[in-house]
Amino acid sequence: MNILEQIPLLQFTNWRIGGPADYFVEVDSLHDLQEALRFASDKKIPYVVLGGGTNVLVGDKGFRGLVIKNKMNTISIIAYKGRLSNSSEEDRKNVYVKADTGVLVNRLVRYTLDQGLSGLENFLGQPGTVGGAIYINAHNMSQNDFFGSHVVEADIISDNKVTTVPQSYFEFGYDVSTLQKTKQLVVSVVVGFEQRLDEKEQIWKKAEAAMQHRHATQPKGFPTAGCTFRNISAEDAKRAKIPNNIQSAGFLIDACGLKGKQIGNAKFSDEHANFILNMGGATAQDVKQLIDLAKTNVKEKFGINLHEEVVLIGEF
Ligand SMILES: Cc1cc2nc3c(=O)[nH]c(=O)nc-3n(C[C@H](O)[C@H](O)[C@H](O)COP(=O)(O)OP(=O)(O)OC[C@H]3O[C@@H](n4cnc5c(N)ncnc54)[C@H](O)[C@@H]3O)c2cc1C
Repeated sequence: MNILEQIPLLQFTNWRIGGPADYFVEVDSLHDLQEALRFASDKKIPYVVLGGGTNVLVGDKGFRGLVIKNKMNTISIIAYKGRLSNSSEEDRKNVYVKADTGVLVNRLVRYTLDQGLSGLENFLGQPGTVGGAIYINAHNMSQNDFFGSHVVEADIISDNKVTTVPQSYFEFGYDVSTLQKTKQLVVSVVVGFEQRLDEKEQIWKKAEAAMQHRHATQPKGFPTAGCTFRNISAEDAKRAKIPNNIQSAGFLIDACGLKGKQIGNAKFSDEHANFILNMGGATAQDVKQLIDLAKTNVKEKFGINLHEEVVLIGEF
């Protein structure tokens, strides 16, 4: 295990923003991960895990601790039919696939589609790793599909020991998992699928349609972290009398006249106001100022508190 010092983090984030980590390590096995955690514990420093870095904003001053870049990358089919120990209900899923959390979601989707496995087709083209997808319960809102719904069980690390937990442990909701409170690390995940070999082509077509929809509706061309804010609840939309009870954070930002607003080198996309783009050389401060501006304006205009979907890491 090679622990490096003072490593700039911008190269590991999709936004291409972020100062140095005091310590940085890439892990590709459970053994290395546990060693890395021991290192942080011995030194009494905080640690944070990075997957694809597609949903994080790292501060310009970096992170005073250990950044663990998750490169654990194995996928395997672990069971056909039958039930897993922790799967309580008689579920319809008949193939179980175990994936390390460093596996890219897109790779997992392609792997399973190739085997005629139906389940994750709405996530083709979804950026980030399996670990990041569990943390935020990644979603394809146009299909009302959530990554966590497909999870059967997972191995997590607590006090540097591995425990297997069932799906219910994560208390998945919209942009919510219990990991956001516990800060535990997920090592691997078991996902349930239905095998439909004779419909393989149709499943691929559905997946490609989902990916095309994603491409058609999301801004392209500049580094971004996707949606910056979580959409608001139905109750908030009703209380604030938002037209048609729209829950989209992008709608609210747009309604405040902030679409296209630029601070420094960061800009709210002209196409989708919930996306902040790095126009070239943007700092975390530029992005943070846009975030704060949107929060203030939306609060003043609608009385609603916007909450970040992106995870802020380190010192700003
Ligand atoms: C262009 C673009 C489009 C996007 N579209 C969508 C979309 O349609 N739907 C959607 O849901 N999201 C979308 N996102 C956001 C992002 O892709 C997801 O949130 C993704 O799941 C993040 O995964 P990641 O591996 O990059 O996580 P990271 O950004 O690396 O980390 C995010 C958080 O997860 C934690 N984390 C990562 N791995 C683990 C682990 N193994 N155990 C515990 N915690 C962990 C990190 O510590 C951090 O707090 C988009 C992003 C971009 C850039």
